[in-house]
Amino acid sequence: AKERGKNNFQFYTADMNARAIERLKMEYSLHRALAQDELDVWYQPKVELASGRIIGAEALLRWHHPDMGLISPGQFIPIAEESSLITSMGDWVLDTTCAAIRRWRDAGLLQGRIAVNVSGRQLKYSSIVDSVAQALERHGLPSSALELEITESVAMDEDSGMVEVLHRLQALGIYLSIDDFGTGYSSLSYLKRLPVRGLKIDQSFIMDLHQDRDDAAITQAIISIARSLGLELVAEGVELEEQRRFLLEQGCDCGQGYLFSRPVPAAEFEALLRQQPR
Ligand code: C2E
Ligand code: CA
Ligand code: CA
Ligand code: CA
Repeated sequence: AKERGKNNFQFYTADMNARAIERLKMEYSLHRALAQDELDVWYQPKVELASGRIIGAEALLRWHHPDMGLISPGQFIPIAEESSLITSMGDWVLDTTCAAIRRWRDAGLLQGRIAVNVSGRQLKYSSIVDSVAQALERHGLPSSALELEITESVAMDEDSGMVEVLHRLQALGIYLSIDDFGTGYSSLSYLKRLPVRGLKIDQSFIMDLHQDRDDAAITQAIISIARSLGLELVAEGVELEEQRRFLLEQGCDCGQGYLFSRPVPAAEFEALLRQQPR
């Protein structure tokens, strides 16, 4: 038994090492990705549910890995978050998105906001307020051109530093919204503390909305919370006509999802904007 225990231990450490090496490799190639232009920002329209009209978009990071192809942010953002990489990557996303907004505004194609995702670590440890202010200034944009999405789990963190950062962003005039709303815990009191203006209903509730009574009830509750607190709402992950209809009937006016468009490269999003009746 002793012998076996020892072997298990060795196996365990070898496994740990392999994972640590994997992580280091990934972190190294992410540095390269940033330096060598392998990253890209795609855009997914946010639409008015009644008309399908595009009112804005969410910027979503993409990584074109030379060997592995397109890698989803769910796979590499957590690794970037464990190092200072998330700051430089986040600044790059902000700058790239602001440059695109400038082009679309100049062409008279876009009046609405584009939303950028910010992670907890960006809000806690980085000079995000300066990064946002500089990106807006560099591209000559008003703060109303930009929205920042903060996941609910981050927003519920009591960290006072983060709360202060959010207030400074609000003072700049940035529209803040809570992402993945409804996936956190039962307390909603954090909503009172934070200067947020919008909620995004998490896609896990939208998915079975049309056939699951609990999801329908939760969605209705979120809609009434948003209404009574005067917050704007966007439903995420709308894929089906039945979901669109239900949301509209319950009083949720805006949505985002494959029913309208997948996230697309900048040129394709621009083409979608050009097709809009103006
Ligand atoms: P998220 O902010 O919740 O973004 C929504 C995700 O749902 C996106 O996945 C989007 O492609 C996907 N989606 C949109 N509509 C539908 C639909 O109708 N059905 C389904 N099944 N999925 C839909 P994506 O692009 O893979 O992004 C994953 C997550 O990575 C994002 O979740 C966000 O948390 C994070 N992320 C993406 N870009 C950035 C970034 O620039 N910075 C940071 N910090 N995080 C980012
Ligand atoms: Ca988001
Ligand atoms: Ca979300
Ligand atoms: Ca999500």
